Amino acid sequence: MRPFDEIAQDQPHAVACLQRAMTRKRLPHAVIFASPGDVGEDELAQRLAQALLCEQPRGPFAPCGTCHACDTVARALHPDLHVVRPKGLLRAIKTEDMLELIQALQATALIGGAKVAIVYQAETLRKESANRFLKTLEEPTADTYFILVTTRPERLLPTILSRCQMIRLRPLSAARVQARVQALLPACAADTELVCAIARGRWNRAAKLAEDCASYRAMVEALLAVLSARQSAALPAFDFGKRFAGALKDERAAYEAQVKDALAVQAERCKDYEAGVRRDVLSAAEDELEAAQAARERTIKAGLFETLLDLWRDIWVYQTTRAPDALLHRGYHTQIARLAELYSPHEIARNIRDAETVRGPTVFLNTRVDIVVQGLLAGATAPVRERLPFQRAIMATGL
Ligand SMILES: [Zn+2]
Repeated sequence: MRPFDEIAQDQPHAVACLQRAMTRKRLPHAVIFASPGDVGEDELAQRLAQALLCEQPRGPFAPCGTCHACDTVARALHPDLHVVRPKGLLRAIKTEDMLELIQALQATALIGGAKVAIVYQAETLRKESANRFLKTLEEPTADTYFILVTTRPERLLPTILSRCQMIRLRPLSAARVQARVQALLPACAADTELVCAIARGRWNRAAKLAEDCASYRAMVEALLAVLSARQSAALPAFDFGKRFAGALKDERAAYEAQVKDALAVQAERCKDYEAGVRRDVLSAAEDELEAAQAARERTIKAGLFETLLDLWRDIWVYQTTRAPDALLHRGYHTQIARLAELYSPHEIARNIRDAETVRGPTVFLNTRVDIVVQGLLAGATAPVRERLPFQRAIMATGL
């Protein structure tokens, strides 16, 4: 976990709001952290849970960070902290997880203090479980707090929205992100500039990009090459999709090997446990590792679509303004200027729409990512707009 001072500086408005509410003992029993994503929303939710459960708080919204409660919250092991996250192929919150949460919140707190529920990516709540959850929100038991974390508050049921206080988190200031990225990439001004432009105030995204800027550049260059080929782009599009899916597969294989090792260590650690308990511990560990891998793949896929959309945005901006400084990918302005000549405004708008259409369901899907990407890119570059490649992309997403 990052030091709290850093999070407080990143999100001064949200932190002040929570501090004020807790000082007056008027913290609403349900809050929504509405975030642009990657600005520390998960850490802030965890911090609030610590503040509510800490055994020796140093003040309102100032958990000690060292007591048993703070420690177990940080490791998601506190018995009165209930965390729900999206799971499975569709990366949605499962109904059974929500029912379990509702049941747990109806029981008395195990430690005797507050009970806290954190629902991450709350926008993936299905209608049925959202409605059941609503009843719990309407009639909460004493000392029960709900923290909903979302990047798409508009997708929550209006009835849920109306029962929660929304706290908006904001992108970090450009200067703040730049100072930190500079510290990570002291030797490369061009990379710092690129990372800051792409991250647009989302610090976690900036940190991830800074870790491997070379891969990001390689992806941008490959996409620019595909889009530049236009009439003959079917083959490059095919290659790109195949390579992207291949890289994902290699990544998965490498991770599976790591999982095997981690499970072997875990098995050794609990070898003296009773057989049933051992099985439960190992299966929980396996689930957790699988969820972590699904989340990693989701990030990689989402990254590709975001990059493609950012490039279309740049092409559109250049076509409209002719100003290289207005681009996110300033270092690539020659190629972008060329693409602004190659594509009509109408085609650019349609390509942005197409990429938006497939990116939602596609990033959650485990298979066929090669066909989706191939179809999308081949459709984008086809001379007279052919819907066929794009239709293939849509079919592969299962929409
Ligand atoms: Zn504490």
